Amino acid sequence: MKATRHSPHAARHPVPPGELVHALSFDIEDWFHIVEIAAVEDPATWPGLHAQSTLVERYTDLILTICDDHKARGTFFMLGWVAERHPALVRRIADAGHELATHSYWHRKVYELTPEIFADDIARSISVLRDAVPGACIRGFRAPSFSITQGCEWAFDVLLDAGLVYDASLFPGARGHGGYACPPGIHTITAPSGRTMPELPMSLAPVGIGPLRKRMCYSGGGYLRLLTKGMIDQGVRHEARSGRPTVVYLHPRDFAPDCPRVPMPPHRRFKCYVGCATTEGKLRHLLAKYRWDTCAAVLGLDARYVHGEPPSPTDHHRTELAETRHPASPEPTIDPQSKPVESNPR
Ligand SMILES: [Zn+2]
Repeated sequence: MKATRHSPHAARHPVPPGELVHALSFDIEDWFHIVEIAAVEDPATWPGLHAQSTLVERYTDLILTICDDHKARGTFFMLGWVAERHPALVRRIADAGHELATHSYWHRKVYELTPEIFADDIARSISVLRDAVPGACIRGFRAPSFSITQGCEWAFDVLLDAGLVYDASLFPGARGHGGYACPPGIHTITAPSGRTMPELPMSLAPVGIGPLRKRMCYSGGGYLRLLTKGMIDQGVRHEARSGRPTVVYLHPRDFAPDCPRVPMPPHRRFKCYVGCATTEGKLRHLLAKYRWDTCAAVLGLDARYVHGEPPSPTDHHRTELAETRHPASPEPTIDPQSKPVESNPR
């Protein structure tokens, strides 16, 4: 498939000082990279499933088109297994001015790995991205299924040893395959070695009305597909009042009403496939209404913003780390349901 509308030189919106910029992110994996579903769990089946489907490339190109239409940059957390098979797609993402980051190579849950196996996986995922885009600056990681949980803090040392500088893996609430009691919003993680790194956790907020009002994720995956635009806006506004940017995370399959179906329990089926036809409209709504940028930029790691200059779309992977690592922001509010363990709010 060839690229169509991903202009590398589209004008970007300048970001006025003091205006909250939200984090736009995508986990680029194929339709069968769903954890703990027996029909697709064995990697030996993946080449055959991949050969029968163009879904990941078609819908990643749709994501690129949507971003280009709204002049928005985002972070693409690439699964190494997919990047290795689609180097031209990786280059299209980079050439459009987006940030490349890693979503691991094999899409295994971090809490099931040893530090050594996780380190090998991360190294391979970074190597694949640099094969596709020589000189690419890979700085961020998001764990498959937000699977850095309490007791997995060794993973932050593995990430730092691999040369990564931020993490976006923590989900500050209960979750089937993850969840970590950390402060909401941007904060600093202290790894067991004593080194620190910025964390951009997933956004949770109270959404709904009356007895149905519930603190939940509102800006990604099945949550975004299920909720109305009004409920998503409610979450964005709630977090913005506390100075916290919203983090959007979506996969190519979230946009795919034609996503192949595989056998799975009813509650997983609902969560996997509900509302796929609504995702493009909701993303366009969000991109039109709010300011968005990469995770690195929102974390203040993008040197170009330190001096108030809008980023050039052509030098995205050559950026040096900024001296000032975090933008000024209010102290995050500690969620009463969360007990920070290895995380320090800043
Ligand atoms: Zn994933």
